Amino acid sequence: MGKFGFKVSFKDKSSKARIGKITTPHGVIQTPAFTPVGTQASVKSLTPRDLKETGTQMFFGNTYHLHLRPGEDVVEKFGGLGRFMGWDGPTITDSGGFQIFSLGDRLEEKNPERTKLIEISDNGVKFRSHLDGSLHYFTPEESIRIQHALGADLIIAFDECLSYFLTEEQVESVLPRIHNWEKRSLEYHEKHSKGNQFIYGVIQGAAFKDLRKISTDFICSLDFDGFAIGGVANAGESKKDIYSVVEWVTPELPEGKPRHLLGVGEVDDIFEIIERGIDTFDCVIPTRLGRTGFLFVDPKEGNIENRFRIDINKSIFAKDQGPVTKDCGCYVCQNFTRGYLNHLFRSRELLAYRLASYHNIYFINNLVEKIRDAILNGEFKKMKREWLGGRI
Ligand SMILES: [Zn+2]
Repeated sequence: MGKFGFKVSFKDKSSKARIGKITTPHGVIQTPAFTPVGTQASVKSLTPRDLKETGTQMFFGNTYHLHLRPGEDVVEKFGGLGRFMGWDGPTITDSGGFQIFSLGDRLEEKNPERTKLIEISDNGVKFRSHLDGSLHYFTPEESIRIQHALGADLIIAFDECLSYFLTEEQVESVLPRIHNWEKRSLEYHEKHSKGNQFIYGVIQGAAFKDLRKISTDFICSLDFDGFAIGGVANAGESKKDIYSVVEWVTPELPEGKPRHLLGVGEVDDIFEIIERGIDTFDCVIPTRLGRTGFLFVDPKEGNIENRFRIDINKSIFAKDQGPVTKDCGCYVCQNFTRGYLNHLFRSRELLAYRLASYHNIYFINNLVEKIRDAILNGEFKKMKREWLGGRI
């Protein structure tokens, strides 16, 4: 039997930020914490040793992708996701819903005639694989069965990821189905879990305050181990919407259970969501941006306007002998220059992607660690001002 626990050890007086500890069968996560995403059981170009060195505490895998390739049965035979990929720390998988539904959205935009590629009923969702077009059917029970086989410490209830173009009436009409799917997820989990995996319920309701309240009340009435807030990652332009949703939801959640925000984590977001009481969050941005040459930099050079990044591809960096950013203690900043990274990106050397991902993940983990220290020292607001400026 594994163990799971969550304990808040300190609360910020000037905000809802909190310091805590999530205990899982594969180790402890100090919160707030960032979780890099490794879609195919790999954070692209980084080894698990790199993840450790960059301060990563938990690995986030995608159920949809791992189900299609290599298949949960294969991963299970290798001893679960962590063993399969050589990572001995805590792991979390999503429900697969986000990929299935965003796949539907994408296809809809490109080719409206092919919207039938996903077909939703009250029982579940039928979809075609983006790899080979094969037909698949996900129900709440199937999502949890797959997540049990993948064996991550934390798993997520199956829900429907709503398109951001829906009206309030449309969202209201599908909310009961989503809630029913989550209830079924929990029931299946309670019946079949070996006791070493822990399940989060997801709060939906798009950017509508009343619907978020309804969803929060319903999901909190079920006996989930933790809570995730979903459906904000594709909230379009408005970061304010993301922050509002978090602000509405977190005060309604039980204090003693962990809260995860799905798919958010740019530098300014990190301050805003931690301030509003989020414990963990996952985001593809540090690695996805890194691979195109966008590297995070400290305040002064970095600010809200440039979103704390430089584009290392730019010719101004070709002869720059400084590190990516001055105060970063990572292996990349200690050993390589901007000029060299500029050269690697321009030559499309594989090392470019690795060094960029390494720095960006270290940078975000280090930022979150500094935020934890600032909260403990009563200096969170001060640190936020130093990074984001006086406004907000
Ligand atoms: Zn660095």
